[in-house]
Parts: sequence; C-alpha cells; structure tokens
Amino acid sequence: MKTILILGGGVGGVVTANELRKKIGKEHKIIVIDKEQKHVFAPSLLWLMVGLRKPEKISRELNRLQRKGIEFVNGEIEKVNPYEKSVVVNGKTYIGDYMVISLGTELVKPPELEAVGYSFYSLEGAQLFWEALQDFKGGKVAVLVSSMPFKCPAAPYEAALLLSYYFEKKKLRDKVEVELYSPEPGPMGVAGKELSAAVRALVESKGIKYFPEHQYSTINGNSLAFSNGTKADFGLLAYVPKHQCPKVISDTDLVGESAWVQLKNRETMETDFQDVFAIGDITSIPLAVGKPLPKAGVFAHYQAEVVANNIGVAVNGKGDLKTFTGNGECFIEIGQGKAGLARGNFYAEPMPKIKMYQPGFHWHAGKVLFEKDFLRRWF
Ligand SMILES: Cc1cc2nc3c(=O)[nH]c(=O)nc-3n(C[C@H](O)[C@H](O)[C@H](O)COP(=O)(O)OP(=O)(O)OC[C@H]3O[C@@H](n4cnc5c(N)ncnc54)[C@H](O)[C@@H]3O)c2cc1C
Repeated sequence: MKTILILGGGVGGVVTANELRKKIGKEHKIIVIDKEQKHVFAPSLLWLMVGLRKPEKISRELNRLQRKGIEFVNGEIEKVNPYEKSVVVNGKTYIGDYMVISLGTELVKPPELEAVGYSFYSLEGAQLFWEALQDFKGGKVAVLVSSMPFKCPAAPYEAALLLSYYFEKKKLRDKVEVELYSPEPGPMGVAGKELSAAVRALVESKGIKYFPEHQYSTINGNSLAFSNGTKADFGLLAYVPKHQCPKVISDTDLVGESAWVQLKNRETMETDFQDVFAIGDITSIPLAVGKPLPKAGVFAHYQAEVVANNIGVAVNGKGDLKTFTGNGECFIEIGQGKAGLARGNFYAEPMPKIKMYQPGFHWHAGKVLFEKDFLRRWF
C-alpha cells in the first residue's frame, strides 16, 4: 500500500489527484492537503471583477474530492520535510511514499495599496472591486502590476480590456480613463516581440493608456509613485499583489537560487529529492531565452498529468512514462464576448515558438466551455 501526499488543492493538486485516482488501485491512499476549503477557478476572477460571474459559480468545495476516493485534509501545512516526504498539518504528521508539491504562490498585499485599492487576484478582492466598480461613474481606473514575477502574464491586460468594455456597455467610456502600469517592458514578453506588440496594439486600440517599465514604489492618498520618478492619480485601483514562494517551502532545501523550487528535470518535474515532485507556480523553470517559464494554470495542469502518470507507472510497476514538453496556451479575453489565443511551445530554443490567433467569439466560447468543464470534471 502506497501513500501519495499532494500539497495544495489548486490547479496542479486537483488534476494530479484525479488523474492518479484513475490510475492506481483503491488500496493506495491519495491525500490532498489545502488550507482553504474551496478551490477557486482563477481565470474567472476577471469576469467576477466586472460582474459577469458570482463567487459561488466559480468555486468548488475541496471536500467533494472525498466522493472520488481522494482524502482531503483541510489545514495549513506548517512544515515540509522533503528528505522524509513528510508534512505537518494541524499538529499531525503525514508521511508519504511520494510527494507532489503544488502550493502555488503566496500573495502579499502591501497594506498601503490594500488600504485604497483592490487585489483582483483573490475571490474576495475581485468581489470587492466589483462592488466599488458599480459606484464608479467617471475618472481614472488604474490597473497596477505591483511587482514581478506574477502569475498569468495576460491577466492584467485582460482586466484592463474587460474594464474598457464594461464602461462602453454602461455608456461611460468617454468619462473614464483606463490605465495600465507594469514593470515589464511589454506584455507577455517571454512569448516574443511580435506577440508582445500584438497584445500592446490590442490594448491601445481600445483607448487604454499603457505604461510599461513602471515599477511601483509608493502610494500617497490616491497617487501612485514609480521608481522612474513619475506619478499617477487614480479614482479606482485594481492591483496585482506581490508573489513569493510560500514560506513553508522557502524554509526548505527544495528552493534554489531563483527563490522558487528548483527541479532536477523540467520534463518529469522531479526535484533533487527522491520521489518528490514539484509542479505549477511554485517552480521556476529557466528557459533558453533568459526568462523563466511563465506561471500559468495551463502548465500546472499539463505537468500534473505527467507526474500523475509517472507515479502511477511507478506504483503499478508497468506503463509508459510521460514528459512535459513545454507546450501551453492561453485565452486572452478582450471584451465584446471575444477572446484571442496564444499557443505554442515554451521549451523551444533559442526562443519559445508562440502563435497568436486572431480574437473572435469562438475563443471566448472556448474559455467558457473550459471553465464549465474544469469545475465539473475535477470536482
Ligand atoms: C486573475 C487570474 C487569472 C488567471 N487566468 C489564467 C488563465 O487564463 N490561464 C492560465 O493558464 N492561468 C491563469 N491563471 C493562473 C493560474 O490560476 C495559476 O497559474 C494556477 O492556479 C497555478 O496552479 P498551482 O497548482 O501551481 O497553484 P494554485 O492553483 O495557486 O494552488 C495552490 C494551493 O496551495 C494552497 N496552499 C498554499 N500554501 C499552503 C499551505 N502552507 N498549507 C496548505 N495549503 C496551502 C493554496 O490554498 C492553493 O489552493 C490566472 C490567475 C489569476 C489570479
């Protein structure tokens, strides 16, 4: 009898648990541990913040995993020991034969930003932003990327585009300036200059003012200050919080120079520790282009399928091993019921090979279908 510990019930954890349950017999235990009771489908936070979703429609109780024969432990993981493949939760120690780490990123909300703005990267923040948005009838709305790195490189751009469309529908667009501030030199830079320019053109074609290379430094009342000396006033602020490796992992030998989990093999997601795997946002995978693989659910998902398969092969003693090839795709919501799609191979050398597909109604429909399918299939 084997025990597989899955740390985190986010994208990577939930997909790993479900896929593994299909592959190994019920005599083997699969345990998912998460401090939250609910899984939130993060891509839909962008719809939530403009009133196109309700919180209950985009979240699912993690307890539902139990119906599939997956044990769920609700509690904060206080300690991780990769040498022994053990964790401490609610004062109790769990030891596994295999351990899959999918604890994502820890989001840090600078108190001075949180005092006047809304972090739309969480369910509560996106919902509070939506409540404030309904009272906003004119002035400047700023979308701010407060620091690098951040997950889902497209999300701030989608947020600005959806906001622009929201004001259009409300017939307020001529009374509102939508502005986007980011430390990046351009949108989604890892995907190459052409794609970055295409996303920038899309954003600017909607009258959104884009300010790249603007690293947030301080805030005074409703005025943001940047390290390049510029300032920006706003009436309403939606911001991307600071991302860091969860402390419970940064305290261990799993973390490399990047301050995120270092992998021994980027195709199998093995760490330097025997039978300990790490997937998703908590890893940092250097690419030949000099930037890391973006933090995105699509990668956590594909990596989870590979790790589940390979643990299944090891437990069953038969089957074919799989590898994560670096392929991925991302819908880019642009409003008007349309979305674009960026798809390609991020492990391609010397540059990722990514293609941008023209925005249309079909890609938006694809994203809606994906949302429904994700929440139905895994819970
Ligand atoms: C607004 C927004 C839009 C997005 N849109 C897209 C998109 O369109 N496409 C895409 O590919 N990606 C998108 N993403 C990114 C995607 O959500 C993440 O990349 C993905 O969730 C990463 O999966 P993960 O399993 O690594 O981490 P997560 O899904 O973040 O899961 C980590 C889990 O670990 C738990 N945890 C952390 N620390 C502890 C602890 N100490 N004890 C117990 N539990 C703990 C957390 O509660 C969490 O449930 C978006 C993200 C946001 C915020």
